[in-house]
Amino acid sequence: MFRNIIAQNKAKKIITEQIKNNKIPHAYLFIGEDGVGKKKTALEFAKILNCTINDYSKTDIGACGHCAACEMINKDSYPDLHMINFAKQEEMPDGEGEKTKLGIDLIRYMQKYVYMKSAEGKWKIFIIEPAEKLTIDAFNSLLKTLEEPPKHTILILIAKHRETIPTTILSRTQTVFFQPLPKDEIVKYLQQQHSLDEETAAKIAEDAEGSFGKAEYLMLNTQNEYASLWKELTGKKMPAADLLEKSRQVSRDRDTALSILDIITESAMKSFRKEPEKYIDIIEKLSEHKIYLTRNANPNTVLDNLFLYINSKTV
Ligand SMILES: [Zn+2]
Repeated sequence: MFRNIIAQNKAKKIITEQIKNNKIPHAYLFIGEDGVGKKKTALEFAKILNCTINDYSKTDIGACGHCAACEMINKDSYPDLHMINFAKQEEMPDGEGEKTKLGIDLIRYMQKYVYMKSAEGKWKIFIIEPAEKLTIDAFNSLLKTLEEPPKHTILILIAKHRETIPTTILSRTQTVFFQPLPKDEIVKYLQQQHSLDEETAAKIAEDAEGSFGKAEYLMLNTQNEYASLWKELTGKKMPAADLLEKSRQVSRDRDTALSILDIITESAMKSFRKEPEKYIDIIEKLSEHKIYLTRNANPNTVLDNLFLYINSKTV
């Protein structure tokens, strides 16, 4: 079970054992930093319980991922899966206004469904996120549900830190901790899901603090910054002063300069495939300058030269 959840072996083991032994608590508290797989695990859990092909009481393969129930959960349209979050609060009739807290009205709204019969006849799952943003009133109201939970209903509270949750709630929920992800898992993920080369992936993983979410954020930022760079350099004639300024802004250190060079080279190769004659000199210049960089040339000087050259050659 939970085969598509990366790492988090402890968390997966706890929940898997409970499913196998048919001792599923009615409420969980998933604790861990952003982007480590808490919500993904909660959704997978919902699939395992509701999958119409792989019955969890008979097999431990886990959810099939493609039956009608699994598909609906993937698309967030399963009638017995309820996301209790800021988006839901905003959708409610008097939802607008409060943007920093999840209020009691949201919990009351949820309770309507908690005590309603399940639409699909299996398990009802409520994912409350971020649980630390519930108001005191909302927590107190939630407590009532935790004290008398209907059968085949699971509440999963998701939060960053356990200390932010009232003790009355803690004592009625099963805490499951999610750890920061190992760097090599993040590298693998970036390579497989986003086709990054190992070097770039490793650099991002270094700053990602064990979070896929943060890694993706860093990746997008990096890519956007560099992607627009190639467009700028080849878009229109730029004054030398502007090109040098641009170079100064991005040549923070050797590693950054090398990443920029790699990404520019990637864009240049795309252009080269379309117009080989126009871009051949640039490709040569880029590989030449990469060697300079690895041989300790000043990153700023290298990028100065390249930016001036690319702009003069292409525009
Ligand atoms: Zn399924």
